[in-house]
Order: sequence, then structure tokens, then C-alpha cells
Amino acid sequence: MTDYATVGTTTPSYGRVLSDMEDVSEETGITSEEQQEGQEAEEEQGVLLALDSPQIQLTLETCKILVIGAGGLGCEILKNLALTGFKEIHVIDMDTIDLSNLNRQFLFRQKDVGRPKATVAAEFVTQRVPGVNIVPYYGKIQDKDDEYYSQFQIVVCGLDSIEARRWINAKLVEMIDDDDPTSLKPLIDGGTEGFKGQARVILPTINSCYECSLDMFNKPTTFPICTIANTPRLPEHCIEWASVLEWPKVHGKDVKCDNDNPEHILWLYETALARAKEFNISGVTYSLTQGVVKNIIPAIASTNAIIAASCCNEAFKIATGSPFLDNYMMYTGNDGMYTYTFQHQKKPECPVCGKIASSIELDRAMTLADLIELLKERPDVQLKRPSLRTATKSLYMQAPPVLEEATRPNLEKKLEDLIESGEYITVTDVALPVSIQLKVTWE
Ligand SMILES: [Zn+2]
Repeated sequence: MTDYATVGTTTPSYGRVLSDMEDVSEETGITSEEQQEGQEAEEEQGVLLALDSPQIQLTLETCKILVIGAGGLGCEILKNLALTGFKEIHVIDMDTIDLSNLNRQFLFRQKDVGRPKATVAAEFVTQRVPGVNIVPYYGKIQDKDDEYYSQFQIVVCGLDSIEARRWINAKLVEMIDDDDPTSLKPLIDGGTEGFKGQARVILPTINSCYECSLDMFNKPTTFPICTIANTPRLPEHCIEWASVLEWPKVHGKDVKCDNDNPEHILWLYETALARAKEFNISGVTYSLTQGVVKNIIPAIASTNAIIAASCCNEAFKIATGSPFLDNYMMYTGNDGMYTYTFQHQKKPECPVCGKIASSIELDRAMTLADLIELLKERPDVQLKRPSLRTATKSLYMQAPPVLEEATRPNLEKKLEDLIESGEYITVTDVALPVSIQLKVTWE
């Protein structure tokens, strides 16, 4: 049996340290802070007692939960959910196990290398935690339809791809039926990058969705080419110099540098090291070279554990009808443990959950090709291969090939020759499951 008496006594309170701020009641001698602490302890005890209630047990047994991703975060999430008492869990992942996963994706062993992550993770947890049923699916989230997603009460994401997140976010928003409250599937999204991470609760159409916050995720760092060529200051500048400028100069344009070839990486490392010496820069190592050219940020097991724990905590609170995260918690582990929780605001012009079209002010002399480049660069749009059309004509279509060819001449035309100020452009892209409406006005 749990010893409830220890609740609230093992964590020191910051309040006690700030003794000069205490407000002591003259009659009782009890500070208002102590009173509040007593109340909190009582409430917490209430929650813990309630965990044993048949109602909560039934909730955990019947709540069907979908986990997307069975990698670093996913392994942690599956283990936590099963140990929390959830009994009906599905997991989707399209990857197979790689040797380099084994240091942190702890549900996998050497013998599992090459097998689907979802399948192995489900087998492992099912074996270890009695009574849990985990159904794996080895494939893409895009393979599944509305009927599949509608069977779940909660979706938890532990993904490293922005594209998959955008897709599931848009799917869950699209599935909302105002007449059917069960069509609302809370999406708990965890993400990590090195020592940083975030956990958030998205209530599709009700609060800020993934797309609303897209501009918070910047593109990978790139360095200006003039710095790389003339005034390097960082070890990364030397590595970029070796890979972007020196490699093609020495090896010719036809020999591409293969980032998975150890000999190529070694050449880049040695070339960068010589350059670094010349400029008195320290810190060029083989693994940094690998990291820079492959754009790798190391995955850190403890960051995954912390973020997954937070996600599962929210899943438990949502399932049991308790107050939950509203709506964004960010964490950094660079200096100790820092977390900050805030309410991320909905974006009225969000292409997925917003109701109004975005406006864009453009130079009328700009070409259509320039506009397409601009859309790729904008952090709030992040498109890969956008196709553009107005209400009456196709401006540029990436596919099918016939249409691409037919619209290609437009790329060189000036915008003022293609559209009018105040006209709407519809943008579609492989990166986005919905289309974006842009109202164009001239600068
Ligand atoms: Zn949104």
C-alpha cells in the first residue's frame, strides 16, 4: 500500500526561503503560505487516493490511446503509458531499428536491428507489463484514414519530423465535427533537440495548433558564404569551408561528398583542421565534422525521458478528467533544469485552424519564381515545392508533368502581369495537407 503520509514533505518549498515575505496571521500564528501548503497537500492526497478508485481504473482500461513514433521519445512514452495503467495502446512508426538507436531506444536489442520499431517496441512492453495490449503498425501515418483515427481518445506524438506533425495536426483539426464531441482528439506533442524539448497539449480548433506555432521552429543554422570564405571564427565555419568550397574545388563537380562515407568525412575533417590552425580556431573534431555536414544535433536520452514523462503526465490528466497543461511547456537542460509554461496563442490566419486568409505584401515587379523562393524561406510557411493558383488560373503547378510544363513560362513573368492587387492565391504543397490562402497586395 502507498504511504500517503509522506506526500508533500519530501519536496522543500521555495516559500520557506523567502521568510521576510511571509504574512503571519496574528491569531493563529499560521502563515497564509502554510495554510495554502496544507490545502495543496490535502488536494494532492485526494488525487492520489482517487487513483485507486474503480472509476479511474475503468478509465485507464477503456481509454484507447495512439502513440505516433517508436523512437527515442516513443520508447519512453510507451513504457510510461503502460506502467501508468493504460491498457489499450496503438503505436505507429515507419522506421526499422538501426544499430545507432540502441544507446537510447532502450526497448531494442542488437538482435532487433533491421526489424520495425513499432513491432519490437510493442512486443517488449507487452511482455514486461502484464495486461497491456499494444497494437503496432509499421508504416506511415498517411496510410490511415479518418475511421482509424476516430477510434482513439488521445493521440501522443513523439516524432522528430515536422512534416509528420503537420500532417497529424491538420488531420485531427479536419476531423472535428461540431455536433459530435467525441470527434475532438487531444493531441499531446513532445519534441526534443539536444538539451532542449517541449511538451504541449493541442485541442484541435480550440487552442493553438501545431501549424499556429510553426514559425517557432527555425530552419537549420546556415552560415553566410562570405564568412566561411574570408573570416571564419568558429570551428563550424572551417568545416563548412571544407565541405562547401574546398571539396568541389579539389574533387571536381562530379564527385559528390558522401556524408556516410568515413573516408570523405575524414578528408573534410583534416582539411577543416588545417584551416582552423591557420586562423587559430580550436574545436574542430571528427565528430563535429560529421555533425555539421549531416546537420546532426545529438539525441540526449535524459531529455527524451523528461519530455516523455511530461507528455504521459498530461495524457493521464486528460484521460482522468483532471486539469491539464494549457498549453505549452518548454524545457532546457543546458544549465540545470529550466522549464517555462505558457499559453501559446491561436493564430487567426493559421492555414489549418484559423478562419481568415493571410495577407502578403509583394513587390509588383517580382517574378513568380521569386515568390516561390520567398514562400520556401518564410518560417511561418516552410514549403518544399509549392504550387500556386488563383481562382481563375493555374500560376505554377509542380505536378503532373504536363501542367508543370504548361505553367513553367510563368515563372519568369512579373507578378503584376499575372495577378491583380487584392486577388487571392491558393498555395498547395506536399509538405502541407491543407491549402493556404494568401491575399496579395502591392507594396
Ligand atoms: Zn492553427
